[in-house]
Amino acid sequence: MEISQVYKELKSLIPLAEIQCHETLKDHVYTQMGGNADIRVQPSTYDEVQCIIKYAAERNLTMTTLGNGSNVIIRDGGIRGIVLQMTKLEEMTVSEHILCAQSGASIIQASRMALGEHLTGLEFACGIPGTVGGALYMNAGAYGGEVADVLIDALVVDSSGNLLTIKREDMALGYRKSIFAGGLYTILEARFALQSGDYTSIKEKMDELTHLRESKQPLEYPSCGSVFKRPPNRFAGQLIQESGLQGVRIGGAEVSTKHAGFIVNVDNATASDYIGLVHHVRDTVKAKFDIDLETEVKFIGEE
Ligand code: FAD
Repeated sequence: MEISQVYKELKSLIPLAEIQCHETLKDHVYTQMGGNADIRVQPSTYDEVQCIIKYAAERNLTMTTLGNGSNVIIRDGGIRGIVLQMTKLEEMTVSEHILCAQSGASIIQASRMALGEHLTGLEFACGIPGTVGGALYMNAGAYGGEVADVLIDALVVDSSGNLLTIKREDMALGYRKSIFAGGLYTILEARFALQSGDYTSIKEKMDELTHLRESKQPLEYPSCGSVFKRPPNRFAGQLIQESGLQGVRIGGAEVSTKHAGFIVNVDNATASDYIGLVHHVRDTVKAKFDIDLETEVKFIGEE
């Protein structure tokens, strides 16, 4: 189906949503890499999300959901079909110790809102540069906390456009994994159960974690955070460091000299530079330690 035709039909179905054709995704993701989306839509209501999903299902068009793009590498050939970027759905409310956040809200902002309400439980998330939807999908976590610890449930849309609520216990949450990896659901909002706490202690915890992050991570460059999952009983960063890979570059991508677990986009890296370096790191660690590093980051789109 012609892209211009899809654009016209979507525009008449959801006139208020922002829709673009052949849009450069690197301008809209944290990693600052990746090719074009045939169609990029930023819905700002749940109705619009349902409408787009039903439309894509009827026309047999591929749908890809994005949050802040801080855990995906979009290949240089871009993404065919419709890219649904959720970052305009960013409202949050707090009532009776429950924080309810739309999926495009920043998880950092959610942790700050919790602080403002003197609620504890989301401190771990204060430096994770993703959306609430991306954090659920990944069961994001840091410094001993993870989404699964505080999540109650999520409102989602299935691939036919129906709304449903999924409880935390039905999400198969594990280390950086969830039921959402199956691609069957688009997350609209999530509810977190928090507890009353002392403002000063919550703030101190968040300041401490921020300091730790700033001192250890190369936050001055775009990246996707830790590229690899922790292998059993080891740290990926340490294996990479001991393989002498820090500072190794392909094009504009470099194994960080500050934190070996990060590959940073130091100079207009292409996705192919980045992916080439991921393979090089994996092969070198395999040759030296006979350990297979599994990527945490997702690779999407076409070569
Ligand atoms: P995206 O990268 O946009 O998407 C990730 C996946 O989620 C994709 O498969 C996408 O399709 C899916 N997705 C996104 N939104 C939705 C939705 N609404 N419905 C359905 N599917 C959706 N991660 C940690 O766990 N802990 C850390 O401490 C951490 N630190 C980081 C530090 C840096 C500097 C960086 C760059 C990344 C870090 N990350 C960390 C990785 C990343 O920020 C998290 O995984 C984050 O939760 C991803 O959210 P996102 O909105 O960017 O998701």
